[in-house]
Formats: sequence, structure tokens, C-alpha cells
Amino acid sequence: ADKLEYVKSKIGKHIDFPKKGIVFRDIFGALTDPDACVYLRDLLLQHIRAAHPDVELIVGLDSRGFLFNLLLATELGVGCAPIRKKGKLAGEVISVEYQLEYGTDTFEIQRAAIKPGQKVLLVDDLLATGGSLRAATELVRKVGGVVLESLVVIELEELQGRKKLDCNVHSLIQY
Ligand code: 5GP
Repeated sequence: ADKLEYVKSKIGKHIDFPKKGIVFRDIFGALTDPDACVYLRDLLLQHIRAAHPDVELIVGLDSRGFLFNLLLATELGVGCAPIRKKGKLAGEVISVEYQLEYGTDTFEIQRAAIKPGQKVLLVDDLLATGGSLRAATELVRKVGGVVLESLVVIELEELQGRKKLDCNVHSLIQY
């Protein structure tokens, strides 16, 4: 609990970014602090080891999810893979389109990244409306993976993103 409070105290808050009316929670505010980095790693690992000891692959979302996928994978002794915005991944990719506030965006994963039946943990920095993790869940399932959970550092509870997700959801910090 002390580690969690410490990390939370280092999360940045930016009013009216990226536009008026938005309160942007900034994980990078914590990552410049060496103790917060270690505590954040410890807290994520502690949760995964307790809740999902059977995890086989960590999949991080473009782009702040990548801060965590390799880190967690190496500690857990499993592999990791990225989900990226359209056009960035080579080879055979599977795509899913998802809604943004205005318009749509597309996420992709390499088909070869996931073996059929593989147990996957999705990771990102923050859950807002849930659109990103919903699309990511769909992608993992399309290539045959099993989603154990969507794991985020921060959850913006009033946006109710969790309701949009039909998988387990876990967050360390809630606003
Ligand atoms: P969602 O798809 O859940 O609406 O939005 C989540 C995605 O948008 C995440 O990839 C996250 O990085 C980004 N995002 C949305 N709001 C914030 C915010 O307040 N802070 C940060 N760091 N990222 C945000």
C-alpha cells in the first residue's frame, strides 16, 4: 500500500491536455523517479503472479503499453508482443477498427505473435473509455489467443471503460 501511494503521488496531472476539458493523467511523471519505477514494476508483478501465474504472453498496446510488456515478460519468463497502429507491423497482420471520439483508428497484431490457445495478458498505461483495450481483446481472440485480463496502471472510473470490456480488468490506481 505504501508503494502504491508513492507511485500515485508521482503521477502527473495536466488540465486541458490534449484539449480543453480533459484532465490528462501522466504516467511519465512517475517514471523519472527511480523508486516509483521499481515500485510500479513490483506492484504489477505482484498482481500478475498472484492472479495469473499461468500467463504465457504479455501483449502491450501502442505505445505506452510497450513500457511494460518487455519488462514484465522478462521478469515472468514469458514472451511479449505489440499491438500497433495500422501500417507499422511487418508480415501477415490481423486488423481491428475501433471508434475514437471523432472517427476511427485501426489496431494490428502479427498473426504469428500468438499461438492458438495461448494465455495472454494485455497491458496498457491507462483505461479511459475502453475502446483501445476492447479492440485489443478482439484482436488477440481473432488470432486464437485467450485473454486472461486487461491490466492497466491507471483507470479513469467515471468513463466506465471496464463496462465495455468482456474480459477481466485490473487497475493499480483509480481516479
Ligand atoms: P480508451 O481507448 O480507453 O478511451 O483510451 C485509452 C488509451 O488512450 C490509452 O492507450 C492511453 O494511453 C490513452 N489515454 C487516454 N486518456 C489518457 C490520459 O489521461 N493519460 C494518458 N497517459 N493516456 C491517456
